[in-house]
Amino acid sequence: MLRFLLFIYLIISFNAGFAQNSKAFSNKKFLKKLKQDVEYMKLKKRVVHEYIHAKPGHWGEFVKGVDEDLATQQKYVAFTFDACGGEKGSGYDKELIEYLRREKIPATLFITGKWIDSHFETFLELSKDSLFEIENHGLNHKPCSVDGESEYGIRGTANVGDAFDEIEANAKKIEALTNYKPKFFRSATAFIDEACARMAFELGIITVSFQVLSGDAVANTPDSVITANVLTTVKPGAIIIMHFNHPKWNTFEAMQKIVPELRKRGYLFARLNKFPLKSNKN
Ligand SMILES: [Zn+2]
Repeated sequence: MLRFLLFIYLIISFNAGFAQNSKAFSNKKFLKKLKQDVEYMKLKKRVVHEYIHAKPGHWGEFVKGVDEDLATQQKYVAFTFDACGGEKGSGYDKELIEYLRREKIPATLFITGKWIDSHFETFLELSKDSLFEIENHGLNHKPCSVDGESEYGIRGTANVGDAFDEIEANAKKIEALTNYKPKFFRSATAFIDEACARMAFELGIITVSFQVLSGDAVANTPDSVITANVLTTVKPGAIIIMHFNHPKWNTFEAMQKIVPELRKRGYLFARLNKFPLKSNKN
């Protein structure tokens, strides 16, 4: 009996500790903690000072400072899956992730701080899986802008300080939880201004867009359309953008057609860290 009670006690205290831990890393708490971090605030002050009068430059998915491809002519493509988080983006496509595991498809997962908050345990589990590379999709899923741009009705970061937190605070959060500091950043909606991309670069982060737009993020897109979008535009080195935060979208269904066809064509799959990246703008 005593042993049983001790067992129950351990289970309860483990779960309580876990919940407490996940709370301590919530966006709100984590940002509050960073505000007391001398190094973080020193860096933020320096960056804000440097960019406060910077012109935003072009706004878009393929602006200067953003990479879209793996720099290789070999038959590799990179699947990237975003988890946006927030009210309409906090699902988890477990079927898709299990499929990637079953098929041993390495992939890059761009994850926001918001999504981590709603899937703390799953996030930790994904981060421990060597098949996946965890990268930065921003703290609050705000498109990165130094002057408050918006895209698809999603409000971007309001100013330089906000843009800095969007990028750097989520990088720090992922690092604190996984011991890996993300190398890549994909802005929410993939839209970004040139000043933000430059700022990320100075922080040691490469901003990534995509070369192949799967179109899975447009609600109710049939899997046949997603499949065709990928298979008609894919080429060696292509970075493909998809999502794993909407189990009801047809990403998983499409992947079951895309993967065998790409394999038939002789393609292999890589995470972003396998090759240097390049831009298609030159
Ligand atoms: Zn997103």
